Amino acid sequence: SCTSPEHVLDLIRSRGIQIVDLRFTDLPGTWQHASLPASQLSLADFERGIGFDGSSIRGFQAIEESDMLLVPDPTTAFIDPFAAVPTLVMICNVVDPETRQPYARDPRYVAQKAERYLRDLGIADTSFWGPEIEFFIFDHVSYEVLPYRMGFAIDSREGYWNSGRNDGTPNLGYTIRPKEGYFPAPPHDTFQDIRSEAALLLEQIGVPVEMHHHEVATAGQGEIDMRRDTLTAMADKVMIYKYVIKNVARKHGCTATFMPKPLFGDNGNGMHTHQSLWRDGTNLFYAACHYAELSELALSYIAGLLTHVDALLALTSPTTNSYKRLVPHYEAPVNVAFSKRNRSACIRIPMYTTGPENAAAKRVEFRPPDPSCNPYLAFAAMLMAGLDGIQRRLDASRFGPLDVNTYQLPPEQAAQVKSVPGSLGAALEALERDHDWLLEGNVFTRDLLETWVSYKREKELREVEVRPHPYEFYLYFDI
Ligand code: GLU
Ligand code: MG
Ligand code: MG
Repeated sequence: SCTSPEHVLDLIRSRGIQIVDLRFTDLPGTWQHASLPASQLSLADFERGIGFDGSSIRGFQAIEESDMLLVPDPTTAFIDPFAAVPTLVMICNVVDPETRQPYARDPRYVAQKAERYLRDLGIADTSFWGPEIEFFIFDHVSYEVLPYRMGFAIDSREGYWNSGRNDGTPNLGYTIRPKEGYFPAPPHDTFQDIRSEAALLLEQIGVPVEMHHHEVATAGQGEIDMRRDTLTAMADKVMIYKYVIKNVARKHGCTATFMPKPLFGDNGNGMHTHQSLWRDGTNLFYAACHYAELSELALSYIAGLLTHVDALLALTSPTTNSYKRLVPHYEAPVNVAFSKRNRSACIRIPMYTTGPENAAAKRVEFRPPDPSCNPYLAFAAMLMAGLDGIQRRLDASRFGPLDVNTYQLPPEQAAQVKSVPGSLGAALEALERDHDWLLEGNVFTRDLLETWVSYKREKELREVEVRPHPYEFYLYFDI
């Protein structure tokens, strides 16, 4: 990895790089890019930035004020493993050319401000983030077919979704049994090589990987776990991760999707996010002899996440499809509670390792997020919720611990436990009511939150609501 602009220019020379590809993230969370011949990149570009038209970028400026600058971050430079022409990628910050200030709707800037706010408060100097990103790999998928299958996937998944590879190889009967797709070795698991290739490319790019495996869903669901990193750096890695998986799948003639719930009746794609706060190299979440070895500070952080959960989900689970994942029985969280044991609570405290010698591993796993989020905004929002809990010393005891399966609580106990919002609409309304904690330290601006809510409502929620759904044909076509 590079440390300075000079270092990037050296790399371009020594590795024969011909194209520099500048990347940034739009408001909903998709990578955008523009390229220039590597010979044109100068040291001054790292100061002054390189101009682009921001008018067609989702959630960015209107046409009349669309000139923007991209300022590359040299520490993010990597050689694109998919480009035939030697290409160096750099992730950029977006800057307003008139004020020369960072652009307030640039998601990466929000993440950087959240890290600065954490340091300014003096509570901690570092936060660590470990998202577990799940995805499906499909073969034979086309946009024509997908909508007709999605309502009825449970009937068709073996016969259709995982029937073999599109190189013509038949499945030969090594079908994955429903809910048992997790660990059987190949030939049941047909995506081993795709995951391995993606994992090795990630490592080569500078994204250390801990493990990869098939996930619970039947139809080629996978997960590759990255080693934790600090907030902005990890959000950058989430963007790299999606890029690598989509492109490796594509190379193999398959399609990877990160949509939260592509198939009715099977598990969805989560992005459980492990998080911890540190000061002077010490993990502030660890305390020996407490419940799940959690410090008071960690409990207040948990209380912050769960107190603001409805509004928070508008940023961590921000699509209409997210709420099709957050239903009982698929290991996605439903009830607003914390627990060291069970995966049905919004917050799980992993207990793989315990004791003071493992204090560094103590962390909180927030399970509602999914990979349809913008990771810069989602991580920043989770941090802000947790910090609000710490500053107001919010009480976690009203959220647990709840060490029982919260999908199967007796009715009188179930009535005590709150559920996550049932729809994107409900989460957006919650965000409109409850967002002062996001505005602290000017981390999120009012303009950004208003843009987010109106974008999500007008461009996604309403557009879905006005279209006839396949299941409506089942219910009403012959009425
Ligand atoms: N796929 C599940 C979800 O939607 C999570 C499975 C797991 O615990 O890794 O959250
Ligand atoms: Mg998983
Ligand atoms: Mg997990």
